[in-house]
Amino acid sequence: MPPATPTLLPVLITGAGPVGLFEALLLTQLGIPVRIIDREIAISPYSRALGLHCRTMEIFQFTGIIDSFLDRGKPMTNVSYYRNARLVGSLPVIQAPEQSRFSTGMFLEQAKTSGILLGKLKELGVEVEYGWELLDTKVVDGQDGEEEYVETMIRRALVEAHVVDGGKDKEYETQVVRSKYLVACDGGRSTVRHKINIDFPGRSLTQKILMWDGHCECDIPFTGPTAVKGPNGKTLFVVPLGEGIVRIGVEDNDLTPGEDFDKTLRDLTIEYFESVVNATASPAKFKVTSTAWLTCFKLNERRADHFVHKNRIFLAGDAAHIHTPSGGQGMNTGLQDAHNLAWKLGYVLNGLARPEVLLPTYEERCAMADRAIRVSSHIMARNRAQGVLADLKMYLVFLLAPLIARFTGSFFFSPEVAMLDVKYEKNIVNRPHDTQPEPATEHKVGIRAKDGILHPFYATATSSPSTTVAANTKDKKDPEPTLRLHSLLTGVARFHILVFTSDQLTTDAKDITTLLDSHVTQWRSRWTYGSTLQDGYVDKDLLKVHVIAGPPSSSSSAASNTTLLEMSKQEVGKGKVYIDNDGQIHKMYGFAVTKGQGGITVVRPDAHVGFRVHGVHEQSWKDVDSYFSSILVTQPK
Ligand SMILES: Cc1cc2nc3c(=O)[nH]c(=O)nc-3n(C[C@H](O)[C@H](O)[C@H](O)COP(=O)(O)OP(=O)(O)OC[C@H]3O[C@@H](n4cnc5c(N)ncnc54)[C@H](O)[C@@H]3O)c2cc1C
Repeated sequence: MPPATPTLLPVLITGAGPVGLFEALLLTQLGIPVRIIDREIAISPYSRALGLHCRTMEIFQFTGIIDSFLDRGKPMTNVSYYRNARLVGSLPVIQAPEQSRFSTGMFLEQAKTSGILLGKLKELGVEVEYGWELLDTKVVDGQDGEEEYVETMIRRALVEAHVVDGGKDKEYETQVVRSKYLVACDGGRSTVRHKINIDFPGRSLTQKILMWDGHCECDIPFTGPTAVKGPNGKTLFVVPLGEGIVRIGVEDNDLTPGEDFDKTLRDLTIEYFESVVNATASPAKFKVTSTAWLTCFKLNERRADHFVHKNRIFLAGDAAHIHTPSGGQGMNTGLQDAHNLAWKLGYVLNGLARPEVLLPTYEERCAMADRAIRVSSHIMARNRAQGVLADLKMYLVFLLAPLIARFTGSFFFSPEVAMLDVKYEKNIVNRPHDTQPEPATEHKVGIRAKDGILHPFYATATSSPSTTVAANTKDKKDPEPTLRLHSLLTGVARFHILVFTSDQLTTDAKDITTLLDSHVTQWRSRWTYGSTLQDGYVDKDLLKVHVIAGPPSSSSSAASNTTLLEMSKQEVGKGKVYIDNDGQIHKMYGFAVTKGQGGITVVRPDAHVGFRVHGVHEQSWKDVDSYFSSILVTQPK
């Protein structure tokens, strides 16, 4: 075996698909040196995934990269449904706007998503090492007091840039890489998963799917996302990709016992694909005019038994879970795996958290993988359903949805598919309060931090700032635009403390700021981030504090008004105050703007609720302190 590279790399990432690239980008933003390898020579030009869901877009917003995606993607608008080539209806694919800034998901090919991530990574000085294949990996016990590490063997072809199966050893350059951690993003057939013997239980389905990208002529206009259910009981799914190219997916015949799938793939022709589409689109006619990609794939639903191996190796993306493409959950779930893991590795590698405390919590992603399998399987079953009842259901949905949208202004299209319902079970980072009663399910720790509209706080133009303040943006000329709560939750590694003061700022503003200042100052001195953050924030504050108050009242004391005015001038994240005019945000987080019904919510760096406590008094701050103290390690001075 060739000599190991002498230094211990913090993180090796294997696989530069969308998930590996995102993990590498996040860790780099966190100032963690990474090495990322892929056995291919470039990003695959063939896009499997086409969609980014609202939750992924929220995550791209928190991590400061959303603009590039918004520039290139196309919003998911109406889906048209045809039955026997006749239009049944068109369904608006939007969320209720108060759910998320991203009221709809976005179509963007996987190759473009990967391309954006690769470009961002390059801007931060990290190059993917293409042509390197992982062969083997294991966790090695450290000798003589050394810490454990991961030893990974990789190779690259010297003769050709691409590793060819069955090549001879002498044609390769081989390296042994020692790293503190390995993140396996090496896809559904993950070599890492095999080498560390993690089971991948689940089931293989009998269905085969034909997938094609190209130009075509069809009597059905494919101007937007379209589903066409045909007389043969199959459904065509069509998505326009731009420049006249459309993606068509359609179910092929089931696998037959003993079928040689590789041969099926080799024998696949455009004519065969055309015949399946014609049978489904009938009586409409379909003709291929040019082809960019044609493939056929089998379906599996599997989830790795564990995502964490000996607290050193982590599975993410398809390496950890695979399922049917229905509902477009796969890549999105993988990107969310990467987001969950990155801050935890960043904290541990900076000595801010003990590995044995924080890293096992990455297993919370298993439930999200199960969720993705459940959602996609449910959608697949619905799409395949046959018979009068199934038809009637689809007719009703497509006929009624536009009516609902007309009356309500929006149509509530499955937050499940948009992944706005993601939530984790309790563990050390999702910690219920020790003594206070458990809140209603929608406010429990572990849920996605919700979004909503906040108003700025400012002094009225006519009054003395020391006596009267107002935030009613309806009747005052608003000097600042309203903002969404999510726009405050920036950064890859930052906890955000939301202080819901209910009506208490009108009477107790001074007390609240005194408690806030004293605790936050103390926390900032105990827990600072060592690595150089490259996420656009110059400060190293791990904790950001945002004060959310109910509407101010005319009976506010002069002292409170003065304090409030000072708080409104604070920098963002340093106790700046915002107004929750109609109490909606208090309500979303399980508090109320009246009768001192406030509280404090700690939002984890990946925008899930980590902890919540009723009240904004001294004990509440102590409880928050105890939450942080159970996770974070005090830094030596
Ligand atoms: C037809 C289809 C449609 C889909 N549509 C959607 C959708 O709309 N939305 C959605 O969210 N998901 C969708 N998915 C799923 C999505 O494509 C995958 O979940 C996604 O590609 C997973 O990304 P990944 O980075 O985990 O793995 P991959 O994209 O598979 O990347 C793995 C990388 O690892 C590299 N690699 C593998 N082994 C090694 C090794 N030993 N050494 C070095 N490198 C290695 C590979 O070369 C590859 O670049 C779809 C899937 C299919 C099949």
